[in-house]
Amino acid sequence: MLPLVALVGRPNVGKSTLFNALTRTRDALVHDQPGVTRDRNYGVCRPEGQRHFAVVDTGGIAGVDEGLAGATARQARAAAEEADLVLFVVDGREGASSLDDDILQWLRKAARPTVLVVNKTDGLDARAAMAEFARYGFSDVIAISSAHRVGLDELLVDIQKRL
Ligand code: GDP
Ligand code: MG
Repeated sequence: MLPLVALVGRPNVGKSTLFNALTRTRDALVHDQPGVTRDRNYGVCRPEGQRHFAVVDTGGIAGVDEGLAGATARQARAAAEEADLVLFVVDGREGASSLDDDILQWLRKAARPTVLVVNKTDGLDARAAMAEFARYGFSDVIAISSAHRVGLDELLVDIQKRL
């Protein structure tokens, strides 16, 4: 069985864009409206000459425990709990939000190996964007731009190291 990598984060940070970039598909709906992915969406990343792994895209965690948003969040948590590695995706343009803080809290409880992925760093000072999240205390922080496929090689190296 392939190791499983879960993409977790609040809505609209670019999880589905990253999923499509990793799996080289357009299976995940990318949308400028938050909350498009309600369920779990599985794919496979087959990097050349490296270990292949399964990827699961999740709906954004919107911090609401009721109704559809709550169901989406529970799906995301379940995906994180079954994963070998979690990519906690955040938005480098918007910086850390209270929703990111909340997600960090339950990720700590889930206690899965986690890499912090700072997305949307195209046109930004990547160092400054990463510094915004320094207080989260991750040893592995990778700045990427999913939309422009920048930083994916470095991310893949990090994923390989941890699988
Ligand atoms: P999700 O809700 O976390 O799955 O986010 P999506 O993948 O649906 O993306 C949300 C929005 O952010 C879309 O409009 C994307 O085109 C945009 N987006 C995703 N990745 C990037 C990126 O690396 N840079 C920029 N500038 N926009 C991005
Ligand atoms: Mg999505």
